[in-house]
Amino acid sequence: MKNLIVFDFDWSLLDENSDAWVVKQLAPEIYGQWRTLYQRDTETWAEFMDKMMGMLHERNVTKEHIEESFRTVPMREAMVEAVRYCKENNSDLIIISGANEFFIEVILGVHFGMREIFSAVHTHRSRWHQGRLRVRPYHAPMTITRDAAGRIVREKLDEEDCEEEAWKEHSCTVCTPDLCKGEILAEYIQSGQYDRVFYIGDSDNDFCPSALLSKDDHVLLRKDFSLHKRLQAGQKEGDPTISAHLHLWERAEDVYSIFKTHISPSPSSSSSSSSSSSTS
Ligand SMILES: [Mg+2]
Ligand SMILES: [Zn+2]
Repeated sequence: MKNLIVFDFDWSLLDENSDAWVVKQLAPEIYGQWRTLYQRDTETWAEFMDKMMGMLHERNVTKEHIEESFRTVPMREAMVEAVRYCKENNSDLIIISGANEFFIEVILGVHFGMREIFSAVHTHRSRWHQGRLRVRPYHAPMTITRDAAGRIVREKLDEEDCEEEAWKEHSCTVCTPDLCKGEILAEYIQSGQYDRVFYIGDSDNDFCPSALLSKDDHVLLRKDFSLHKRLQAGQKEGDPTISAHLHLWERAEDVYSIFKTHISPSPSSSSSSSSSSSTS
């Protein structure tokens, strides 16, 4: 039985929000205005973080400062063990995150040395350009504006300083234009490679992918975080229902224990030599 383990990054794999962490560590005066600076109605999270990185750059924050700031960001030991347990036992692991490539690369690759455990990281794009980190949406580079009547319209972003491969626009009505985690996950499900999916998340944008899963799959949602609150509030009009098994977790130890309960150790867990089980 082959499992796909899908981790959200902030407040799921990591016991922090990497975006907030950087600003809090390197420009606490900006972090103090964080809520008012985020124009929820007119900008996506990717645009907001691009704006934050611009403000940090104006304050002479460098790439090295950002790398250094992540040295102490918390990831719990039990979460690392949980991830390694899955990797050793018939599972592929991926990350689908609303953070960005650079942050995840530094945290997982440089500080925790565990980037190779994940076969893919899907997150907002990031590029260093003239000493400043540009953050660009994973999905189509659209921005939200309002027309004269106050209706939300979407426009192409100006991409002059970011030469990029073609972006895919998503068609999901639940998610924001910058990222639909569900559309990313759907490609894995449709590949037919996996018997079960475990999805670990905490936030509103983890709802869409969670709703894609079937009754054989598992959603591990963080207690009292926004995904849990959304489910507690009852079904919104137009919301799909979630068929997967739901597990609440508070601490990394809970996640590890849920994995150990539902994913059996494979007989030869240290090697990935050919398996010839015939399932139909
Ligand atoms: Mg999260
Ligand atoms: Zn979606």
